Amino acid sequence: MRILVSACLLGVSCRYDGKSKPHPAVLALQGQHQLIPVCGEIFGGLPTPRTPAERVGDRVLTEDGRDVTQEYHRGAEEVLALARRLDCKVALLKERSPSCGTGEIYDGSFTHTLTAGDGVTAELLRASGIAVFGESRLADLAEYLNREESP
Ligand code: SF4
Repeated sequence: MRILVSACLLGVSCRYDGKSKPHPAVLALQGQHQLIPVCGEIFGGLPTPRTPAERVGDRVLTEDGRDVTQEYHRGAEEVLALARRLDCKVALLKERSPSCGTGEIYDGSFTHTLTAGDGVTAELLRASGIAVFGESRLADLAEYLNREESP
């Protein structure tokens, strides 16, 4: 099955700090599935490295107060367009990110405080009917894939 995956989980250095977050169990999925690396922040035109940003209500602001909401939405739309073009029905996204986070994200105070919510890309994918999992939910993803692949 084709799975959208946060590029940083696959070792791409696309995080705000210019680093990646390779995840061995995510990388191990490569043998069985077609993984499509995506990064809503890069797809939205933001540079790497970049000033960290967090969701503040409906907006996304950088730590120094710049509004990057438009870039985040553009990136989310690009990820969704790719998902549709490649017929991807599932995504495995990096948790807590203002773009990729699912279920909980940082609260906009830049104090590492979490709050309930999704990142901008995760939210759009979910709203568009794509199943979204974070990297701590690989067992749930495996269950989903088994269900989808069983005849
Ligand atoms: Fe990783 Fe997603 Fe952030 Fe890109 S937007 S660096 S893929 S968490």
